[in-house]
Amino acid sequence: QSGTHVPVLVIGTGYGGSVAALRLAQAGVDVQMVEMGMAWDTPGADGKIFANTTNPDARSYWLRTKTKQPLSNFLGFPIDRDIPRYTGILDAEEFAGIIVYQGRGVGGGSLVNGGMAVTPKRENFGAILPTVNADEMYNTYYPRANAELGVGLVDPAWFDTVDCYQYARVGRKQAQRSGFPFVFVPDVYDWDYMKQEAAGTVPKSAVAGEILYGNNYGKKSLQKTYIPKLMATGRVTISPLHKVTSVSPASGGGYTVLIDQLNTTGDVTTTKSVTADRVFFAAGSVGTSKLLTMLKATGKLPNLSNEIGKGWGDNGNVMVGRANWWWDATGAVQASIPCGGIDNWAAGGAFAEVAPLPTGIETYASFYLSITKNPNRAEFSWNPTTSKVDLSWQTAWKQPSIDMAKTIFDKINATEATIYRTDLFGVNKTWGDHLTYHPLGGAVLNRATDNYGRLLGYPGLYAIDGSLIPGNTSVNPFVTITALAERNIEKIIATDL
Ligand code: FAD
Repeated sequence: QSGTHVPVLVIGTGYGGSVAALRLAQAGVDVQMVEMGMAWDTPGADGKIFANTTNPDARSYWLRTKTKQPLSNFLGFPIDRDIPRYTGILDAEEFAGIIVYQGRGVGGGSLVNGGMAVTPKRENFGAILPTVNADEMYNTYYPRANAELGVGLVDPAWFDTVDCYQYARVGRKQAQRSGFPFVFVPDVYDWDYMKQEAAGTVPKSAVAGEILYGNNYGKKSLQKTYIPKLMATGRVTISPLHKVTSVSPASGGGYTVLIDQLNTTGDVTTTKSVTADRVFFAAGSVGTSKLLTMLKATGKLPNLSNEIGKGWGDNGNVMVGRANWWWDATGAVQASIPCGGIDNWAAGGAFAEVAPLPTGIETYASFYLSITKNPNRAEFSWNPTTSKVDLSWQTAWKQPSIDMAKTIFDKINATEATIYRTDLFGVNKTWGDHLTYHPLGGAVLNRATDNYGRLLGYPGLYAIDGSLIPGNTSVNPFVTITALAERNIEKIIATDL
């Protein structure tokens, strides 16, 4: 409602925003959440809320007329197809040197991600968030995040026998034959449900290949955890298809927030103005960084720190496929939820997930998403000519990631006498070095903010999402984003309200 005054406005409904809203509401504060994406609570013509990965449609992409699939080719042929422009669930946001994939909708990245819920090894934490007390994180906030998110592990005995994880067993065997430790990776997928999917007793989701464009059944996205819990407080309102475009000090105190209401083709139908005593930026690393960089440069929030926009990293993401011999078939049916990885972080700077290639046919391919210790960091800046925010990342900056991933896969190829696939990311292209799923940084903790996410220069403004983390978490990031948000909001509620 335009003209309204609210105590707290939260921009974004991903992990950071959901934690903030829940804890504030439990403390008795009324919260307005604003989300640019859709609610994703209504089935389409096919009776399903979300589209399948193998058959993308309008629901699949954020305001595109052609799909932008992470694996653009198969056997050398481009596989992207035309779709109607729609406020779909997956945004492939293109900057000059990198495509950043992000979730759009109530639940943010939890709607589209693989659900891999990994707590970093404690010995690596000092490099991830150097100014955060590790004892507090590992004793209190990581356990709290894991419990709220519903993190669980695949049953190893079931894993050993089921068809849909043959690809992961091949990945394990080959890792071990080359002397690398294979580890099970926890996930928020409902593992009991997956057993029933595999047995054919319930509608299939992961076993039918659903992942990038949402899971219709088994995944415990935020829609099944934090969001129902925060709605049950009765103190939180969520406005989907509303995009925040400006935050600036209000004359009577607090902040004026300008919000565009969108229709499902992305046009602005109304612009609203709301006043808020406090504003939490939880628009994700890219969303929060873009807003803050723009607001600082255009004079709306000129006193923000010069650290705004800096310290952005890609979590070292790089993808690769390997071609196996015929005796190492990876299976026509592959569960879309990865459950294992190859840990060569300490020796080679790479942690590689054994990822599915859910094409529905036998490909004899092994596919991996590696998280690497890539040291490169980029910066967001305001471009007055285009009135857009640019990101300085360059494609060549992925080379350290490729080198680190090669510490694993060159060795496996040597042991197995196999080669890399060159048909998945283009014609004759081995490495998927054009993208990230794990944007991190841009409003780094204890640099652009204080040590709890309070934005320097403006009391009552906070960052509480992946933008706080300086570029790398050594594993998949959302458990760390959630745990850090739990830590910060506890402090903010205790001292600022
Ligand atoms: P987000 O979850 O990105 O939420 C931000 C929200 O803010 C979004 O809903 C967005 O639409 C909204 N927003 C942005 N700008 C505005 C605005 N101006 N106004 C209103 N709303 C706005 N991580 C893991 O740990 N494990 C995985 O297995 C994994 N797999 C992934 C797979 C894919 C395909 C992708 C894309 C990501 C994956 N990730 C994974 C990453 C993980 O999802 C993100 O790190 C996480 O969602 C970030 O949380 P966040 O709270 O920072 O922001």
